[in-house]
Amino acid sequence: SRKFFVGGNWKMNGDKKCLGELITSMNGAKVPANTEVVCGAPSIYLDFVRQKLDAKIGVAAQNCYKVAKGAFTGEISPAMIKDCGANWVILGHSERRHIFGESDELIGQKVAHALSEGLGVIACIGEKLDEREAGITDKVVFDQTKAIADNVKDWCKVVLAYEPVWAIGTGKTATPQQAQEVHEKLRCWLKTHVSEPVSQSTRIIYGGSVTGANCKDLACQPDVDGFLVGGASLKPEFLDIIQAKN
Ligand code: 13P
Repeated sequence: SRKFFVGGNWKMNGDKKCLGELITSMNGAKVPANTEVVCGAPSIYLDFVRQKLDAKIGVAAQNCYKVAKGAFTGEISPAMIKDCGANWVILGHSERRHIFGESDELIGQKVAHALSEGLGVIACIGEKLDEREAGITDKVVFDQTKAIADNVKDWCKVVLAYEPVWAIGTGKTATPQQAQEVHEKLRCWLKTHVSEPVSQSTRIIYGGSVTGANCKDLACQPDVDGFLVGGASLKPEFLDIIQAKN
């Protein structure tokens, strides 16, 4: 059975004072035995967050580069993320794809390198509103998944995050049925193109306007194995989302 996975993606928010307060409240939270919790911190605060956050909660970077070191001004490597004590990285987030122009190819290279360095990878995919309306959601998410899957040898450290772009930061959450439909198709894709065991063991999590109020209905869908939470991960309700499967 797949351990429920709740990721918080803080994006470019917070300072030491307010993240310190958030961490204090998270350290006091009970993490259910059936749930894994990881917080995605701004890279400049990875070390700060890892030092303050209780070991029961993992820490992720929100991006990294595709090679170990060198003349790549402004970039960070998986080795640096590990050196700060963090074990995860979010890759292919829709904001990286659509604001910063990251291609499927680049994201695939980043996934390969991060995994080779031993990081866990939260690999993000998701269609835009016009793509959903054009009826090409399946093709879009399958193509994005293929570009990731082609770069994965061992799936045990990969979490696949389905985040429809139209649901991110909009308050328009996918309905439990909409999320389940895509998650089920993604699991079927993994079965056909990777393997049956990988399709059964890989966590497929949902992101896009997840809140304390809607998380339980989403969490009871059979193929929804957790969440990647943006806005609500900075609020006290994140503690309720951690309990979604409890
Ligand atoms: P919101 O939860 O703010 O919609 O953001 C979702 C997201 O992008 C998580 O990575």
